[in-house]
Amino acid sequence: MTNAQQVFSIHGGVHPPENKTQSTGEPIGTIPLAAEIVLPLSQHLGAPAMPVVAIGDQVLKGQLIAAPQGLISAPVHASTSGKVIAIENHPIPHASGINAPCIVIETDHNDTWIELTPCEDYTLLSKDNLLQIIRDSGITGMGGAGFPTAVKLNPKADQHIDTLIINGTECEPYITADDMLMREKADEIVAGALLLSHLLGNPENVYIGIEDNKPEAIAAMQAAVQGSVIRVIEFPTKYPSGGEKQLIEILTGKQVPSGGLPAQIGIVVQNVGTARAAWRAVRFGEPLISRVTTVVGESLRQQRNIDVPLGTPIVHILKSHGWNPDACARLIIGGPMMGFTVENALAPVIKTSNCILAPSYAEMPPPPPAQACIRCGMCAQACPASLLPQQLFWYAQSEDFEKLRVHNLFDCIECGACSFVCPSNIPLVQYYRASKGEIRKLDLEKQKSDRSRLRFENRKARIAEAESEKEAKRLARREAAEAAKKATAVKPNVSQTSELLTAAVNAASSQSVDPEKELAKLERALSSAHSRVERANKQLAESQQQGEAPERLAALAARLKQAQQKALEAQKKLDNFSQSQLNVVATAQSVAEKLQASPKEQLEQAIASLRKRLETAKQKHAEAQEQHSPSTDALKLGVEKLEEKLNTNLEQLASLAQNQSTAAPSNHQVNDAAQAAIERAKASAAAKANMSPEEKQLAQLKSLEARLAKAKLRFQKAQQENDENLDAFANSVAKLEEKLKEAQDATTGVN
Ligand code: SF4
Ligand code: SF4
Repeated sequence: MTNAQQVFSIHGGVHPPENKTQSTGEPIGTIPLAAEIVLPLSQHLGAPAMPVVAIGDQVLKGQLIAAPQGLISAPVHASTSGKVIAIENHPIPHASGINAPCIVIETDHNDTWIELTPCEDYTLLSKDNLLQIIRDSGITGMGGAGFPTAVKLNPKADQHIDTLIINGTECEPYITADDMLMREKADEIVAGALLLSHLLGNPENVYIGIEDNKPEAIAAMQAAVQGSVIRVIEFPTKYPSGGEKQLIEILTGKQVPSGGLPAQIGIVVQNVGTARAAWRAVRFGEPLISRVTTVVGESLRQQRNIDVPLGTPIVHILKSHGWNPDACARLIIGGPMMGFTVENALAPVIKTSNCILAPSYAEMPPPPPAQACIRCGMCAQACPASLLPQQLFWYAQSEDFEKLRVHNLFDCIECGACSFVCPSNIPLVQYYRASKGEIRKLDLEKQKSDRSRLRFENRKARIAEAESEKEAKRLARREAAEAAKKATAVKPNVSQTSELLTAAVNAASSQSVDPEKELAKLERALSSAHSRVERANKQLAESQQQGEAPERLAALAARLKQAQQKALEAQKKLDNFSQSQLNVVATAQSVAEKLQASPKEQLEQAIASLRKRLETAKQKHAEAQEQHSPSTDALKLGVEKLEEKLNTNLEQLASLAQNQSTAAPSNHQVNDAAQAAIERAKASAAAKANMSPEEKQLAQLKSLEARLAKAKLRFQKAQQENDENLDAFANSVAKLEEKLKEAQDATTGVN
C-alpha cells in the first residue's frame, strides 16, 4: 500500500549534514571471520545473561552459550563454531569505557551451524509459543537500547494496541544500516512486520515510517508491501525524527505522556532490523547472531555496510576496510549526534552496534572550547522533547537533581540537537547524561539503603524470634535430659518389679553418652555451621559487588550451598537428639501411667484390646474361609489363641471382682499375690518335671476337670446375673470340655 497518510510535524529538530552517501555505494558485504569472537553477556537492556558453557567447550554456530536471567534479559548465542577459550572481563562498546564479562570463542573457521528448527506456517503456533521462540532467539531492539523484543510484544491485558510502527527512519547522520537493509531485504522486513502484527492481535494500523532521504528504500518497501495491510509512510527528513516518541507523533499526531510508554496510548514501535530478525528466528529458527553495521569514516579506504557476526572485534572490521589509525580522529559507535567514543578497538560489535564511525581529523575536528551561555534560547527551539535545555544545563551544573526531575530531564532522548545549535558550543547533552547517571546512582543507593534497612529490621525480628524459639527448645531439651537421667538411675529397682519400667529404662540406658554433654556438643556444631554460612554469604556478596570472574562467583556459590547443607544437617542432628530425649521421657511417662492404673483397670484395658483384636482376627478368618485361602488354618489358630487369652483375662477379672468384694487389695498386695502365684507355678513345674508321662496326663486331667468345674460355676453365675460376657463364659466351658475329652482319649490310649 502506498503513502496517502497525513503526517504531523514535531517540535524542534535540526538538519545536520547527512553524510549518508559514503556508505551506500555498494551492497551489504561480508568480511572473513575473526580469529577470536568476543561475546559480552550483556548486549541488551536488563540483567546480563549467565554462561552455560565452560572454558574448553566446543560450540556450534547458533548454540546457546549464555542463558537469560529473568524477564528483562536476553540469551547469547555463539555467532560461529569454535572453542570457548575464556570467560573473562573484556573491553565492550560502552560510553563508560568499562570492561565487562564476555565469552571468548576461538573460531574453527568451519562456521558449522547447530541444527535449527524452522517453521513453515507460524499461524499454526500459539502466541505464547511464538513469543518464546523470539525470546529464546535472543531478539532485542536493534535500533535503540536493545530492549528484549518479546517483552515489548506482550503488552499488558488492559493495553489495546491499535497501531504497530516499523521504524525505518534512521535519522542519525552517517548511519545507513537500516537503509541498506530495506533496499536489500524488504521482503523479510515485511514478513517480520506481519509476524509482529499477528502477535499484537492484528492492530488496525501497521505503518513503516521512512524519511524522504531514502528513496531506494522507500521504493523497495512499497513494492514489498503490495497486497498487504501495511502502509509505507514517507515524511520529511529532520533530525531526530527516528526517536520513538517523535516518530509516533509524526505518524499519528499522538504524544506519549511524560515518563510513559507508547503501549499506554495503544502503540508499539519496532525497528526494521528487529522485525526481520524476529521473522528469521520464527521461520528458520535462527537466533540473533549477526547484524548489518555501517562502517564509515575518512580514515577507512572502503566505506560500506556489512553483515557481521556479533562479537567480531571492531579492530578486525576496521582492518578489513583499510583503516589508517594515524588518520583517525576517534572511534565512534553509532553516529556523531548520539554515538559514543570507544577507546579500545578490541571491543566487539554487539546487537545494538549499528555503526562504526572512524572519521579523519578534517572530517570531525575537536570541538571548539565551550563559552558561557548567552541565553539565546536556540537550544529550546531545537529540542524535540519540548524541554528547556538551558535550564537543565544550569541545574545540572549546580547538581540540583530535584529541579532536574521537575524539569523532566528523563524525557530528554539525548539527541544532541541542543548542543548542535548552541552558539557557545556547550556540550549540553554531556551534562544531561552525567546528571542522569548521577540521579540513577543516587536512586539505586537509596533503594539499596532502603532494602538494607528493611533487611536489617527483618533480621532483627528473625533473630529475636529464633532466640525465643531456641530458649524454648533448650528448656525442653534440659527437661528431657534430666528425665532421661532419672530413668537411667532407677533401673536396678524397677527391673525387679515391672517389665514395663524395664522397657523405659532400657530406652534411657541405650544412650551411650551423657545427654547433657551430647546436647552441648550438637549446639556448638550448629552454631559454627551457621557462622560458616554467614561467612560464605558475605564473601559471595562482596565478590558479586566487585564484579569478580564468573568461575570465582560459581565457586563461592557452591561453597555457600555446601555450608547451608552442613547447617541443615547439624540442625537435623540436634532435632533428632532432642526428639530421642523426648521419646525417652514419653516412654517413662507412659510406663508410669500404666503402673499407676489399678489391676482391675489394667485388666479391663487388656480385655478391651483383646476384644478388638479378636474381632479383627475373626473377620480375617471368615474372609479367608470364604476365599478358601491356604492361611485359613493359621488364622483359625490365631482366633483360638486370642479367645483363650480373653477368657483367661475375663477369669482373672471375675476373681479379682470376687476378692475386691471382700477387701480391696493394695497394689502391693496384688504384687505379693502375683509373686505367690509365680512361686506356686514354679513349684508345680518342678513337681511336673519329676513325674512319669502317665502321672503327667493324670495331673493334667485333674487340672482340666477342676478348671471345667470352675468354669461351669462361673457360667451359671453369669446366667443368673445376666452378665454381658455370657457367651465368652459358655465358650470357655465348651473349650475346656473339648480339651478334657482330648486328654481323656489320650489317657485311654496311654493306658
Ligand atoms: S543554545 Fe547555548 S547559549 Fe543559547 S541558551 Fe542554549 S545553552 Fe545558552
Ligand atoms: S539532547 Fe535532550 S535537551 Fe537536548 S535537544 Fe535533545 S532532547 Fe532536548
